[in-house]
Amino acid sequence: MSAVRKVLVQGGGIGGLTLATALARRGIEVDVAEATGPGSVLGVGLNQPNNALAALEEIGVREACLEVGFPFETLTIWNTPGLEVAAVPPPEGRYGKPSNNAISRPLYSGILRTAAEKAGANIITGVTVREMAEHSTGIDVELATWTGKHGAALRRKGAPSSRYDLVVGFDGVRSRIRAHLFADTYTPTFTGFANWRVKMPRPADLNQIRFVMDKDVKAVLTPISADEMYIALVTPEPGNPRHHPADFLRLVHERMRGFSGPLGALRDSITGAHEINYTPLEHVTVREPWYRGRVAIAGDAAHTSPPHLAQGAAMAVEDAVTLATALAEHSALPVALDAWYARRRDRALFVADMSLALLKQEMRADMTPDEQEMVKLGIPGAQARLAQEAY
Ligand SMILES: Cc1cc2nc3c(=O)[nH]c(=O)nc-3n(C[C@H](O)[C@H](O)[C@H](O)COP(=O)(O)OP(=O)(O)OC[C@H]3O[C@@H](n4cnc5c(N)ncnc54)[C@H](O)[C@@H]3O)c2cc1C
Repeated sequence: MSAVRKVLVQGGGIGGLTLATALARRGIEVDVAEATGPGSVLGVGLNQPNNALAALEEIGVREACLEVGFPFETLTIWNTPGLEVAAVPPPEGRYGKPSNNAISRPLYSGILRTAAEKAGANIITGVTVREMAEHSTGIDVELATWTGKHGAALRRKGAPSSRYDLVVGFDGVRSRIRAHLFADTYTPTFTGFANWRVKMPRPADLNQIRFVMDKDVKAVLTPISADEMYIALVTPEPGNPRHHPADFLRLVHERMRGFSGPLGALRDSITGAHEINYTPLEHVTVREPWYRGRVAIAGDAAHTSPPHLAQGAAMAVEDAVTLATALAEHSALPVALDAWYARRRDRALFVADMSLALLKQEMRADMTPDEQEMVKLGIPGAQARLAQEAY
């Protein structure tokens, strides 16, 4: 018998929708409380490494992702004038081909939402958990209207509270469920760097991810479909400034001024008509069990890192499918959660720690002795470990 019959997932992002689908497909009743609406997915695209594709196969959406995405194998490194200087082949591993599939974030989210609804999950938008009261036989939850990330949730008159066996916070880097469990013991730390992203038409010769480094600015070109790609820039942003969106275009041009050749031409073609996303890069890692009683956290809520291994969402998806498996395999909830955390901890924290160390190495920021030791593995070594180790 499963450890749970009814689960509330807070957060209908990549991890939350994957968990909802995995549980609902096992006949478990699932409500998803998502703060924002379906049309509000942030960001442009992301890469799904093959370990993520394997986990997505477990909820039946791997093929749908490959159909709309851009599969590829090798990563290439170019110099600032636009000449290829190195190619990094994918590591041999247990997850098969393609080694990567880059995909539009809104399309990915749509695929996961459709799968969750088809499996029978109930997605409630515009809400968040307001109160939780835990009992020996369940946890009573009151949902309230979401009023924004700085606002207090608004009580809904007459809204009944519902009883669940488990509440899972898949509510991202600023998780309120994490704060409920650990108060301010774990809060996001700004790395000193940020990410700019611009969606553009795909040049015909961009058939895999291409990295270009110019002193302290890194550019990554990622094809996400036959027609589209995005440029992502990692730049130093000392003091975590709050740039005004009206300045984004000028700032992107300024930060790309060191590039010439094809990348310089791409920079010059970015105009006010392009949507530009700006994300300060933060990290937070919870280094004790990701649950207490009937409340757990997973994905970015438990471990957020810079995107330097392109594995954050992959870890969220892995967390989700392994949690569903553990809850189905064990009849006692504490045993299930314990088994899940033991299975996930080292792999997810390795990605978080290694990604942060790689960011610091690339940007020549101060590293701890542990980080100096870690980066000796390099990106190919880290990728090989992730490709060979079972999630
Ligand atoms: C610049 C950048 C590039 C990246 N590139 C990659 C990549 O190529 N490959 C990769 O694998 N990963 C990548 N990542 C990481 C990836 O985006 C995250 O790890 C992933 O989105 C985490 O999924 P999640 O479901 O845990 O959280 P999220 O995707 O953040 O979802 C959280 C959800 O919870 C909702 N929510 C938040 N608070 C509440 C609340 N109080 N109540 C209700 N709902 C709430 C949010 O609206 C959101 O829908 C990148 C990250 C960044 C910043």
